[in-house]
Amino acid sequence: MNTLSVELLINNRETPGASYVEVRDPGRTEDRVGRVAQASVVQVDDAAQAAHAALPGWAGTPIAQRVELLRAAAAVLDEEAPKIAELMALESGMLMATCQAEVETAAHVVRDNADMAAEFLQPRQFADANGWVSVEKRPFGVVAGIVSWNAPVILTMRKLAPALACGNTLVIKPSPSAPLGLAVLLAKMAALFPPGVINVLHGGADAGAALTAHPLVRKVSFTGGGKVAGIIMRDAAASMKDVQFELGGNDPAIVLDDVDVEHAVTRIAIGAFRRAGQFCFAVKRVYVPESIYDRFFDRLSAEVGKFRIGHPLDPRSTMGPMNNRAQWTFVKDLLARARAEGADIVELGELLDPQATNEGYYLRPTLVRRAAPQSEIVAVEQFGPVLPVVAYQDEAQAVRLANDSELGLGSSVWSASRTRALGIARQLEAGMTFINQAGASRVGQRHAPFGGVKQSGIGRESSEVGMAEYVEYHSIHGDAL
Ligand code: NAD
Repeated sequence: MNTLSVELLINNRETPGASYVEVRDPGRTEDRVGRVAQASVVQVDDAAQAAHAALPGWAGTPIAQRVELLRAAAAVLDEEAPKIAELMALESGMLMATCQAEVETAAHVVRDNADMAAEFLQPRQFADANGWVSVEKRPFGVVAGIVSWNAPVILTMRKLAPALACGNTLVIKPSPSAPLGLAVLLAKMAALFPPGVINVLHGGADAGAALTAHPLVRKVSFTGGGKVAGIIMRDAAASMKDVQFELGGNDPAIVLDDVDVEHAVTRIAIGAFRRAGQFCFAVKRVYVPESIYDRFFDRLSAEVGKFRIGHPLDPRSTMGPMNNRAQWTFVKDLLARARAEGADIVELGELLDPQATNEGYYLRPTLVRRAAPQSEIVAVEQFGPVLPVVAYQDEAQAVRLANDSELGLGSSVWSASRTRALGIARQLEAGMTFINQAGASRVGQRHAPFGGVKQSGIGRESSEVGMAEYVEYHSIHGDAL
C-alpha cells in the first residue's frame, strides 16, 4: 500500500527528514494515515537560512505583486478544500465538513489580508515649518509560525497571510498531531512564491525549540498551549525576538434569566461540542441563574443528546473522536476525578457503532450538572467534549465567577435584551465576547482582532491589528529644506 510521505520544504525543495514519524487515524488508531519527516537541528538552520536569503527579494517586491500572489494562494485553498478534507479528517479526527469549511474560511482570511495590505502599508507623512517625518512600516524579517493541531489550516493562514503581505519570509512548523493536510496545501501555495519565502519544517518540541532559538528568526508567532508559550518566551529572550501568542481559553457563557432558552441551548451545544470541544474559544463553562436552572439544563441535555458520535468519515457522525491519546487521557482523568468528588456527570449522545468506538479516542459529549464553581473541571481548560453548568444567584456573582480565571480568551452572554447583555459583556475580562452566539460572524472575523487577555495570549490576530504584528516602524526624519 502506498503510504503518504510528507517531507520538509526548504527553498521550495522537498527535503527528506532526518527521521520519520507515523501519523495515525485517531478514529481508528490501528490505521496509518501517512508519515511525516522530522527536521534535524541542521535542517532547522537550513530553513532559517533559506528564509533569510529570500528576504531582500521578497521585502523588495512591490506590494501589488505580493498581494496578487496572496490572491493566487487563496485560490489554491478554494480549489483544494473539497479534495484535502478527507486527509485532514483522517489525521485530525475532525469531521469532513468541518475540515472543508476550515479550508474555505482560511481562503477568506488570506483574501481579507490581501484586501487591506496596500492601505495598511502606506507610509504616514507629517510636516511643519521646521521639518518633516515619514513613518514607514517594514517587515521584521524571518518569522517562525508554530501552530497546534486543532484547526491547522486556518491558524496557519492567520499568520502566513499578514506576514507575507508585509514582506516577511516564513518558516512554518505544523503540529505533529495534524501535519499532513496542512503540508500538502503549503507545498502547493509555496510553489507560487519565490524559493525560500515559505519553508515548512516538521517535528515536535526539539524542532520547535531550535527554531525559536535560531538567531536569524526575528519573530515567533505561536498558537498552542501556555506551557509551551512560556518555554518559547524564554528561548526567544536570548536574541530578543518579538513574540505573539494565541493560547488557551476557559470561556464562560453567562445566561441571563430572560434568555430565549431554545435559541441558547442550540447555539451553546454547538459552541461547546463542535470539534469535540477541541477549539480554543469553545464554550467551556456555563453560568445559569437558579430561577431557570432546571429547565435550562433539561433543554441543554436534550440538545446535546442529539450528537451522533462516530468516525469522521461516516456521514452520519456529528461528533468525531479526540485528536490524540494525551488529550483523551487528560479529559478522561479529569472526569474520573470529578466523579470521585461526587460531581453529577451526564454522558449524552448516541454512539453510532459502540464496538468501533473502542478503536479510537472517542468520548461522549458530557455535561456536569450543578458543577461546583471552584471545582477542577470548571477551573481548567478541558479542551474536550465536557461542559460544566454552574448555578448562580445574581449577576454580580456570575461576573465574578466568570472572571475568576487566569485565562481570558472568549466569553458569551445570552439574553433577550441587548442592553442587559452589553452591560454584562463590558464587565468580562476577555479578548472577545459573543452575544447570543458562540463565535464571530463573517463581519467580525474580517474586522475584529482575535485573541485573549491575561494568560490567553500576547497580541492579536486578524484585522489591521493582526497585520500590525508583522511590521516594525522606521521613522525617517528630515529638516525643512
Ligand atoms: P502545544 O502547545 O502542545 O503545541 C503547539 C505547537 O508547539 C506544536 O506545533 C508543537 O510541536 C510545538 N512545540 C512543542 N514544544 C515546543 C517548544 N519547546 N518550542 C517550540 N515549539 C514547541 O499545543 P497543542 O496541544 O497543539 O494545542 C492545544 C492548545 O492550543 C490549547 O490550549 C488551545 O486552547 C490552544 N489553541 C489556541 C488558539 C488561539 O487562537 N488562541 C487556537 C487553537 C488552539
